Amino acid sequence: MPRLTVVIPAYNESAVLAAFHARLSKVLGQLPMTCEVLYVDDGSRDDTWLIMQSLAAADPQVGTLKLSRNFGKEAALTAGLDRVDADAAIVIDADLQDPPELIPQLVEQWQAGYDVVYATRSARAGETSLKRFTAAAFYRTMDIMSDVAVPRDTGDFRLLSRRALAALAQLRERQRFMKGLFAWIGYRQTSITYLRSPRLAGRSKWNYWRLAQFAIEGITSFSSAPLKLATWTGMAASLSAFLFGLKVLLKALLRGDPVPGYPSLMVVILFLGGIQLLALGVIGEYLGRNYNESKQRPLYFIEEDHPPASQAPLHTE
Ligand code: UDP
Ligand code: MG
Repeated sequence: MPRLTVVIPAYNESAVLAAFHARLSKVLGQLPMTCEVLYVDDGSRDDTWLIMQSLAAADPQVGTLKLSRNFGKEAALTAGLDRVDADAAIVIDADLQDPPELIPQLVEQWQAGYDVVYATRSARAGETSLKRFTAAAFYRTMDIMSDVAVPRDTGDFRLLSRRALAALAQLRERQRFMKGLFAWIGYRQTSITYLRSPRLAGRSKWNYWRLAQFAIEGITSFSSAPLKLATWTGMAASLSAFLFGLKVLLKALLRGDPVPGYPSLMVVILFLGGIQLLALGVIGEYLGRNYNESKQRPLYFIEEDHPPASQAPLHTE
């Protein structure tokens, strides 16, 4: 019988976890395969961990993993996926925005031979038009700038086959833009469409500041286009400065110059100063990433590890 593990990263999700688990187990109970559930507590401050423990106590197919602090969703997800030893893994949010009822459809595509099956949102219920607009702008920019096509309107909700998992496990970069990594590994990928519902309870951990950082992360992880852009802007600015200089020189030679140049001088200095700072910033962004990667720190630390009781304890890393 094929084995399936569902990985759920959770940070302060005590309000929804029980409801989530009820819906998830109902779906898993109907699948003709051995299913396990792995909850990853990403250093929650509320009683998420206690709830996880009680879920695990009630069901031998539930495993729990506690990280030593809040490492962020990407690291929590990675920690969970690193522990999976099954024929396929499903990644799903705890807040019921990804309906567990879709799992049978994901599994169906996997059994049809796909390695990565992701769920694409057909509508974004309960999100402001500003959020929708920024999301659309982000995907468009990613499309233009990066080398891999990151599927649009796709969260982390997806199924990964064993070999896709193994491939993902080899990507140990510290700054993890998961959507990009999932796309980067390749293999046979397909999607199913669903309607994303608003969060059941609790609050989204995202705000615009975090989203902006996320966007910069996505672009700089998968594209060096901003570096090239800095070069091209610099070239264009130098060329126009040269042409302008030529014009000033000729004017002075042919007609004599009463030196009225202050405004144009100011404009050029400010413009070039701005471009230089921008280009330095872009370089700094990449340098910072390089610094972070070169430290080679582990992606996360585990405080407690309780694999599903139905499964022998796994390797430790
Ligand atoms: N999450 C996490 N660590 C964090 C932030 C979020 O493990 O630092 C989990 C969270 O508990 C949820 C999922 O990641 O299960 C998605 O988080 P959220 O709903 O806040 O993001 P959104 O749906 O708004 O993208
Ligand atoms: Mg959410």
